[in-house]
Amino acid sequence: MISVDLIIENAHILTVSTHEEIANGCVIVKNEKILDVFEGMNKSYRSGTVIDAKGKLVIPGFVDCHTHLVHAGSRANELQYRLQGMSYQKIQEKGGGIYSSVRDTRAASPEELYQQSLERAKLCLKHGTTTAEIKTGYGLNPATEKKMFDVIHRLNDESGLETVATFLGPHVYPDDREPEAYMDWLLNDGLALAKDQAEFVDIYCDIGAYTFEDTERFLKAAKAKNIPLKIHSGQFDALGATGLAADLGAVSADHLDQVTEAEFDALLRAGTVPVFLPGCSYYLKTTYPDARPYLNADMQVALATDYNPGTCPSLSIPMMMSLAVMHMGFTSEEALKAVTLNAAKALKRDKIIGSLEKGKQADILICEIEGIDDIITNFGTNLIGEIIKKGMIVS
Ligand SMILES: [Zn+2]
Repeated sequence: MISVDLIIENAHILTVSTHEEIANGCVIVKNEKILDVFEGMNKSYRSGTVIDAKGKLVIPGFVDCHTHLVHAGSRANELQYRLQGMSYQKIQEKGGGIYSSVRDTRAASPEELYQQSLERAKLCLKHGTTTAEIKTGYGLNPATEKKMFDVIHRLNDESGLETVATFLGPHVYPDDREPEAYMDWLLNDGLALAKDQAEFVDIYCDIGAYTFEDTERFLKAAKAKNIPLKIHSGQFDALGATGLAADLGAVSADHLDQVTEAEFDALLRAGTVPVFLPGCSYYLKTTYPDARPYLNADMQVALATDYNPGTCPSLSIPMMMSLAVMHMGFTSEEALKAVTLNAAKALKRDKIIGSLEKGKQADILICEIEGIDDIITNFGTNLIGEIIKKGMIVS
C-alpha cells in the first residue's frame, strides 16, 4: 500500500479533461498534487484522511479569471440610481462609478484595504473559487496601484485563495490628472511596475474609458516588454480593440457583448480566450451575448464573475454558470469547462490547474449534488461542500 495525504472515494467525478466522467471512482492526493484518478474501488493507497463522497459530485476548483476583488468601500447606493433610470456612464460622469471606488481605495490604509479584500477572498473560497485573478486599477496613481499589488500578493500568501495579479492602470483616465501625463506614466514607470508585480496587463477600451489609439499605444508598449496581454473590450461598443488585442496575441479578451465579425475571426485565428462576464449583463440589465458561435467554432471559451462593486458585486461562479446556460447558449458541461480548464488557460495556468489529472495541483470541490445540472438548476444556492486547495481541506 502506498501512503498518501488524502483519498476521496466512491465519488462521481467530472475531471474536465480527456477522460471526462467517472461514475464511481477515487481521487488520490499527495504532496499538494493529484497522484491518481481512477474508476472503481481503492486497493493501492492508504491515508489518515479518507473522504467518502458517495452521492456527491467531485470537480476541479473554480478559477475566476477576471475580478476586481481588491477595492475599498461599497457602491450599493448606485443600485437605486440605476433603478431610477440613470446609466452606468452617467453615474460615472457624476463622480460615482469607478471614481468613487478610486477615492475610497486611495483613502484606505494598506491594512484596511487588506481586511476588506480578505472578506471577499473568503467568500470566493466558500463558493468554490480556488484561484482568482485580481486586477489593480482603483489607484490610478503610482502609490495606490502599488498598494493594490501588495494586497493581491498578501491575499495569495495568507488567505487560502491563490491569486494572479493583473495591472489595470488604464482602467479609466484619472479625474485629477491630464490624460496625456497619465499615459506617459503608464507607458514608462507603470509598465515597469507591471513587469515587476503582475502576470498580465489589461486595459479597458470602451465608451467612457480608454480610446482605441491609447489602447494601441499601451498594448504595443506592454508587448515590447514581453508582458502577456488582456483586454476589457466590447462591453458597450465595438471600438476595434478586440481585434487589435487578438492580433497582438492577447491571452484573453473579456466582456465581448459587442464584437464585429472581423474581430470574431481575429480571436479564432489568434487562439485568444474569449471571456464572458454574464454577471454584468444580469446586474446592468443589458442583453446577454450569444456564446454559441464561439463554442461551435471550438474556441476555449471562459466565464468569470468580473466581481466589482459597481457592475457585478457577485463572487459566485455557480451563479455565472447558471446565467451562461440559461441565457448565453452554454451546455452545463461547457459552463463547467469555462470556469475551470478554459479559465485556467485565460491565466496561462492550464498546465497546472483547471482539471483533475495526474500531476496537477490538488484543487478539488466536493459538491452536495449528483450531477452538474444541479448547479445550474439550483441557481443562487451554494451547494459546494468540501473545498480542497493544494491538497488541504480549507472549508
Ligand atoms: Zn472587469
